[in-house]
Amino acid sequence: MAELIIKNLHVNVEGVEILKGVDLTIKAGEVHAIMGPNGTGKSTLSYALMGHPSYLVTEGEVFFGGENVLALAPDKRSHLGLFLAFQYPVAVPGVSVANFLRMALNAHRKAHDPADKGISIPDFRKLLRSKMEMLQMDPAFAGRYLNDGFSGGEKKRVEVLQMATLEPKFIILDETDSGLDIDALKIVSDGVNAVQDSKQGVLLITHYQRILNYIHPDYVHIMLGGRIVESGGPELALRLEEEGYEWVREKLAA
Ligand code: ADP
Ligand code: MG
Repeated sequence: MAELIIKNLHVNVEGVEILKGVDLTIKAGEVHAIMGPNGTGKSTLSYALMGHPSYLVTEGEVFFGGENVLALAPDKRSHLGLFLAFQYPVAVPGVSVANFLRMALNAHRKAHDPADKGISIPDFRKLLRSKMEMLQMDPAFAGRYLNDGFSGGEKKRVEVLQMATLEPKFIILDETDSGLDIDALKIVSDGVNAVQDSKQGVLLITHYQRILNYIHPDYVHIMLGGRIVESGGPELALRLEEEGYEWVREKLAA
């Protein structure tokens, strides 16, 4: 099954060790949250998992569904079913949301079957319409240029639409909540919950507890200084909200 296993992961960014041995196993269907203060290595973990060239893995292993993830180029990782929703999505002027999604979907289909000619335009329109209905999105959205002049909330909704269309096996959300007002947060969370089925694993990276009111994690991990230093259930997130990170630091220093 599509289980993500991270073993003793060390990652350097510009010659500095940021991740110092991360261990984490996420089974299919489980939702795990990683919480931690800014600068602690949360985004570094998500970029390293997706194979960003600036994030150099110096030690450790990552397996997904039994495949050695670190041996694969970023596009192959995506074809394997790993999906990363970025903290800061990029704009692509000149490419519409619909075209972008169709190209992404076709690339995935071709990766699984080299003979695949791609989804027909009418079939794709039907698919996109049903996904946009599910996510309560205005159909006009599909014709706009990708992320060009989109509000924070709109960018996040495109990412959720992308997830709904590609149906990845594993979803990494890196601070999907940052910069969202409460209405946008609820829309995005509803979207993720609608997209997530019982087989998908989710790694939800967040600085704040509030998104966990909408997307309920099975496990919560605390990252400090490039390591996971505490793991527990949802109660851990509530404790962080009430008490901050000081007790974790004190426990580590003891
Ligand atoms: P978080 O997501 O937990 O806020 P990051 O993983 O973004 O933390 O950053 C961890 C550390 O790595 C920070 O000290 C940050 O300055 C550094 N870092 C991250 N990405 C880069 C980069 N592309 N270039 C230089 N330093 C980086
Ligand atoms: Mg970050």
